[in-house]
Amino acid sequence: MRIILLGPPGAGKGTQAKILAKELNVSHISTGDLLRQNVSEGTDLGKEAKDFMNKGLLVPDELIRQMLTKRFSRPDVKAGFILDGYPRNINQAQTLEDILAGLKMGIDLVIDLATSESVIIQRLSGRLVCSQCGANFHIRNMPPKKEMTCDNCGGKLYQRSDDKEETIKKRLAVYAAESASLIKYYQDKEKLYTISANEDAQVVLKKMLDLIDKRDDPLKV
Ligand code: AMP
Repeated sequence: MRIILLGPPGAGKGTQAKILAKELNVSHISTGDLLRQNVSEGTDLGKEAKDFMNKGLLVPDELIRQMLTKRFSRPDVKAGFILDGYPRNINQAQTLEDILAGLKMGIDLVIDLATSESVIIQRLSGRLVCSQCGANFHIRNMPPKKEMTCDNCGGKLYQRSDDKEETIKKRLAVYAAESASLIKYYQDKEKLYTISANEDAQVVLKKMLDLIDKRDDPLKV
């Protein structure tokens, strides 16, 4: 199964993609995670990307293309993937098609996680991320059992530097500017399914699994 998750920052793409990838036994590919890894390792890509990320702007398409091409050259991709945070504009959607065409693959499903602005601000302003395994928690909605410590691996939790109110607003504006054309792009290809992601993570996950299940059996759609 090859799935793209669309939705604004704070829609829960990362949380859902991680669980969904485990459920479906496919890889979770997050361009945001790959970039943060490059930033923390101080690679050339990380150095170039850091400023854009801290300002809530998109990292230039060409840098992302190179990073993603490398990621897609790994063998695990063949079993399927959940793509989270990519594509973010039409140019990236076309690049993805080229990369996948080279691998003789297509996308099965694009899920748009529609989320209201008040929910987004509330989620992002309390988000905590594990520095080791990348798991997401939330100060109020999903607190870790031990303060600032990951339940899964014991890693230290941190608040993302771009989860500040000012940067959140910029990221939302960037998303708003690009998302309509991206959604239309996948609508035209009859791949797009929109679900509300305002509810708790478990409720949203159930809706996605139901959708995937029905999609496997076209008579149920
Ligand atoms: P995310 O973890 O998806 O919220 O991404 C965090 C930041 O990484 C974004 O605000 C961008 O600066 C950068 N980023 C992630 N994915 C992309 C992408 N596909 N294209 C450009 N920049 C990206």
